Amino acid sequence: MKLLSAIVPCYNEEENVRDFYDEFLKNQDFFSKNDIDYELWFIDDGSKDNTVEEVKKLIKMDEKVHLLSFSRNFGKEAAIYAGLEKANGDYAVFMDADLQDPPSLLPEMFKYINEGYDSVATRRVSRKGEPPIRSFFARRFYKLMRKISKTEIVDGARDYRLMTRQVVDAILKMGEYNRFTKGIFGWVGYNTKWLEFENVERKKGETKWSFWKLFVYSLEGIISFSTAPLAIAAFIGVLFCLMAFIAIVFVIVRALLYGDPTSGWPSMVCIILLVSGVQLFCIGIVGQYLAKTYMEVKKRPIYLVKEEI
Ligand code: UDP
Ligand code: MG
Repeated sequence: MKLLSAIVPCYNEEENVRDFYDEFLKNQDFFSKNDIDYELWFIDDGSKDNTVEEVKKLIKMDEKVHLLSFSRNFGKEAAIYAGLEKANGDYAVFMDADLQDPPSLLPEMFKYINEGYDSVATRRVSRKGEPPIRSFFARRFYKLMRKISKTEIVDGARDYRLMTRQVVDAILKMGEYNRFTKGIFGWVGYNTKWLEFENVERKKGETKWSFWKLFVYSLEGIISFSTAPLAIAAFIGVLFCLMAFIAIVFVIVRALLYGDPTSGWPSMVCIILLVSGVQLFCIGIVGQYLAKTYMEVKKRPIYLVKEEI
């Protein structure tokens, strides 16, 4: 008998918990045929609604359901990490509570695991039902990431992923505070099979990711998995030095040839503004890395538990 740990991060998902459970159990036949036992970990990420009560109802019915409740909202990345720490299974899988990660894909995922893959990941090939601006910026982000990061980060990749114990342990070793899970998956490597599926719209409730939250998250991804911005800052510095050098030669030669009338003070103002702007921008980039380092050095816990059942 093999044990599968399903990890479900929930933040204000009271309407979805029950539906998710029902949908997940539709795999029961498949589980019993293949000698798979399951445990379900609902990680409540500091929900303000009745998510915890809904999960407790399930726990009364089914002893294989567990709850880990955070003291506040720590974010989905923290919930994923907590779930991995709790998982006892030979396999672990992450799934969103809103059924955007269809549990019906599990049998197919297991097929590839049995073929010898270490993890089976999913990506959605369409983004239908998503606001166009969001899709546009998401595409740009992945394109940029592919250019500036050595770690493979796949466009449209979801966190929906089935993996073996070995991969779980590898991810647990990455105890960093700034967690960008999509990058972490790529970083640990192992044989990964990618399954594609059409985007499924959220069943009930609303997305917890505002455009701004996604934007900040994308910066997190860039800073956690690439140091290219630092190199770009240095490059801009060199470029400006070169430009200044050429300008100096030009000014000196012109003064020698035509004398030195005091003119060009408006252009001077523009140049000072531009250069100081670029300087602040570059210091800002360095500052971002420094800030991340600062948070990392503090070694604060990734999450705090309020209740565990
Ligand atoms: N989630 C979480 N903490 C958060 C935000 C989201 O645990 O701070 C969970 C949420 O309950 C859901 C999953 O992460 O199960 C994905 O969130 P959502 O559906 O809002 O994101 P989207 O699918 O729109 O990207
Ligand atoms: Mg969703």
